[in-house]
Amino acid sequence: MPLNICLVLAEESLARDLEVYEQHRDWVDMVELRADKLRPEERTKLRTWPLLGKIPNILTLRRTTDGGDYRGDDEDRLAFYQMHCDEGWDWWDIEEGHPLPENLESEYRSRGGKILRSFHDFQGLPPDAAERARAMFRGSDAVKIAVALKDSSTLGNVFELAEELNNLPRVIIGMGAYGLATRVLGSALGSLWTYATSHPGPNDLGQIDPKTLKEVYRVHQWTSDDAVYGVVGNPIHHSKSPIFHNAGFRALGIRSVYLPFLANNLEDVLRIREYVNLRGVSVTIPFKEQAAHLAAVTEESVRACKAANTLVLTAGGWAAHNTDTLGFLRPLLKKWGCSDLKGKKITVIGSGGAARGVVWALKQAGAQVLILGRTFARAEALARDLDALAAPLAPESLDLVEKHQDAVIQTTSAGMADQIDVDPFSFYPWSGKEIAYDIIYNPPITKFLEHAQSRGCQIIRGVEMFVEQASEQFELFTGLEYPQNLMHDPKLFT
Ligand code: NAP
Repeated sequence: MPLNICLVLAEESLARDLEVYEQHRDWVDMVELRADKLRPEERTKLRTWPLLGKIPNILTLRRTTDGGDYRGDDEDRLAFYQMHCDEGWDWWDIEEGHPLPENLESEYRSRGGKILRSFHDFQGLPPDAAERARAMFRGSDAVKIAVALKDSSTLGNVFELAEELNNLPRVIIGMGAYGLATRVLGSALGSLWTYATSHPGPNDLGQIDPKTLKEVYRVHQWTSDDAVYGVVGNPIHHSKSPIFHNAGFRALGIRSVYLPFLANNLEDVLRIREYVNLRGVSVTIPFKEQAAHLAAVTEESVRACKAANTLVLTAGGWAAHNTDTLGFLRPLLKKWGCSDLKGKKITVIGSGGAARGVVWALKQAGAQVLILGRTFARAEALARDLDALAAPLAPESLDLVEKHQDAVIQTTSAGMADQIDVDPFSFYPWSGKEIAYDIIYNPPITKFLEHAQSRGCQIIRGVEMFVEQASEQFELFTGLEYPQNLMHDPKLFT
């Protein structure tokens, strides 16, 4: 069954609600008008709401005790519904525990109106949710269960609840960033529609705008038999992987979907494979080690790096891959126009998880590598493991760097997020002949690259590694090559 997109209109005036609808109408199948959010004088004008009869409309007057803004008493509330009984509202959303008198309900229903009986639980998924849903369904047309997910541990339980409810007409929503999958995979939950918001916060994964639901996640096409992929991490809102992979599916006419999964534990997400056709995941900070550990099958780069960034479901269980290694190497080989790095002497800054993959890939390709670490002991341990040299990340190491300056690779997190103005190699006098490569892709040009470029160096940006490792993942997931015309399309990332 296709999943409809319901835009929630929660402005202070009907004129503003209409404006918001007009801005999003191309991606919306129905609307919920939150009358409790309207100024009281606006509520008296509901009869003039121009969308009545044009698309399905839900009328909601949520009380403050149920998480809404309506402060009137019960008498006023009943008078409100009585007043709007004959206007042609398709649905009334009525909270559990606050039923309307039988005669009012039957009058409304005799005019074709339907009742959505709902409960919201901001504490989490209550153990008696299925029982309550069945009880609410008596005397209504569908039920809505909206529960806040405070972490990823109960994501699977929401899917389990959906199975328990069998054929009961419903909408199930896991509220908050951990519940994003419940909004996109509504078809798998048997939901009649999913809710969209007109103004999701930039870092709020839990709310999705209608255009993204329709054009990125393609909720109208995806059905519960189709494959699900995703990226699991914490944090995850900054990830470009959903845009990249969904664009690839769309271009190749594949009906799969790819989601960002915010998680506390990788296994919480893998568990949903009991309920949906989860075929593979990208794995990012902080779960790369866990991914390598839990896999039934691992490739050589995973064993060498003790980390995996890709899990693919096979007949024998999860197979772990590390596409960061090849993804990192390809742009460098391309820049030099060669097939290996024999004879190249390269400096790597940093000794964290990403540095391990980078150094391993460089060594595999035949380069000699110097690792510079802020925490020297960590750099030394990595160098010992992978047969490289190590030195402190400090001016005293410049003599050694001079002997390893065909390329300088920046692998630390200095240059992004709260360290956006930091160049960890600011003490280095660039000659202009080195290739400077930063694996950070947000911002597109870090301070490190800025300084190298200003001294005439050729640069490689982190986004080049990102698209290479992501297209490698795409191939592992689908068996198909990522569309070349999309790979370097700047529109993908804006
Ligand atoms: P990690 O394991 O936490 O390691 C971070 C490293 O950065 C550590 O060696 C740390 O030094 C060092 N560091 C942090 N701040 C520093 C500073 N101010 N000066 C010097 N060193 C500093 O993280 P990771 O997994 O390696 O990831 C590192 C970066 O790679 C992230 O920005 C990530 O986004 C990026 N990455 C990009 C791609 C891509 O596709 N382009 C793929 C993977 C990762 P200490 O050891 O002294 O603490």
